[in-house]
Amino acid sequence: MNDNIESGFTRRKFIQAGSAGLVGVSLVQGFNKAVAQTPQIVRESSARAQGQPMPNLENPFPLPPERRLGWAIAGLGNFALNQIIPSLADTRMCKLTAIVSGNTEKARTVANAYGIPDRNIYSYDTFDQIRNNPDVDIVYIILPNALHSEWTIRAAKAGKHVMCEKPMAVTVEECQAMIEACNKANRKLMIAYRAQYEPYNLEAIRLVQSGKLGEPKVIIADHGRPLDLSLPSDQWRAQKELAGGGSLYDIGIYSLNGVRYLTKEEPVEIRASMRPGSGDPRVEVEENIEWTMRFPSGAIANCSSSYNYADTKRIIVQGTKGVLTIDPATDYYERKMWLKRGNSEEKLLLRDANQFALEMDHMAESVMQNKEPKTPGREGLQDVRLMQLIYESAKTGRPVTVPPLA
Ligand code: NDP
Repeated sequence: MNDNIESGFTRRKFIQAGSAGLVGVSLVQGFNKAVAQTPQIVRESSARAQGQPMPNLENPFPLPPERRLGWAIAGLGNFALNQIIPSLADTRMCKLTAIVSGNTEKARTVANAYGIPDRNIYSYDTFDQIRNNPDVDIVYIILPNALHSEWTIRAAKAGKHVMCEKPMAVTVEECQAMIEACNKANRKLMIAYRAQYEPYNLEAIRLVQSGKLGEPKVIIADHGRPLDLSLPSDQWRAQKELAGGGSLYDIGIYSLNGVRYLTKEEPVEIRASMRPGSGDPRVEVEENIEWTMRFPSGAIANCSSSYNYADTKRIIVQGTKGVLTIDPATDYYERKMWLKRGNSEEKLLLRDANQFALEMDHMAESVMQNKEPKTPGREGLQDVRLMQLIYESAKTGRPVTVPPLA
């Protein structure tokens, strides 16, 4: 639009005529024809575009690609491909730079999809060469449980920081070796307890710790789902050699860890029992296990995990003044929470967030700021230690006193 139209008397005339429906060819003589044919919104005011101060940011800025830490994902299974790799796009500080897989064809497909160059595709045979790859800062171990310790140690020896899936490993000794290897290499080790980075669980911790429920007296925590042996990802879970344990190691660990992070206490006594499972000879691990934990405060946790009952991921904290129910508590993409105090029950709605992205950003931040992650190796070690005691009690039929933490 030219300056004549924009200013002074000519413009006013044009507006008035336009508003009276009179704009026609005769009134716009000398005007550009195209301008006259386009309805014009021209106001008489001093409004003009001008910069304003920075608004409050709801989230810090994401880092530009060259400043993000590079992740190698080891094991391209169900969880890695459906949750973790897509979630890297939601992070602020991380990027996918390499993959490790025993299946060449699958690795190529994934590499093509995410733009990973051939030089950053590793097999289990070539993995140790990752030490020479400056594109990789962190290796994320998403392999069957019994492989966690070997591959965490190899990643640390290759000079990489490690995030490892739950359960940390199969035995206490393996966990200790992982911690030692990462310490020796001066690398961070974080166990991927995603619920401890997820907004609903964080709010639940805050509520319990704030005393809003009074003193926690009884916590009920149940995690279960049917095992589906037609799926490769459930076939190894049924094998003792690869899974290390049964439903407890796989999903009961959410009940155990949940009770620990909500109460911020460590149990002093455990009683456990096992119920018979499906009887399918292919299942070499326990399917059903129930256990009770007694805490120094006097609180009791009643927990169960199962490969036989329908999908359940529930935690309930019953305190002297209120009851908090999170159901589902540890779902990937949905959590629901209620707080009941006296006769009032309130459904708590929080702004949701991608917990996988949050936990990966926490790991990246821990590396960048050289600080210990919130869920370090000793958090994973404590769960494995307690799960071993749960098995011991179930096997002997006797309560087990938990030795104090070293
Ligand atoms: P999958 O079976 O889907 O994937 C495991 C992958 O590990 C395989 O695809 C394979 O990748 C690799 N692998 C290497 N050796 C073996 C082997 N001998 N047998 C089977 N797989 C092998 O399992 P998930 O993804 O469900 O679980 C992987 C880990 O992630 C487990 O430790 C599990 O506890 C944890 N997990 C955590 C969740 C969470 O919410 N935090 C949720 C689900 C799982 P490739 O073919 O590329 O070599």
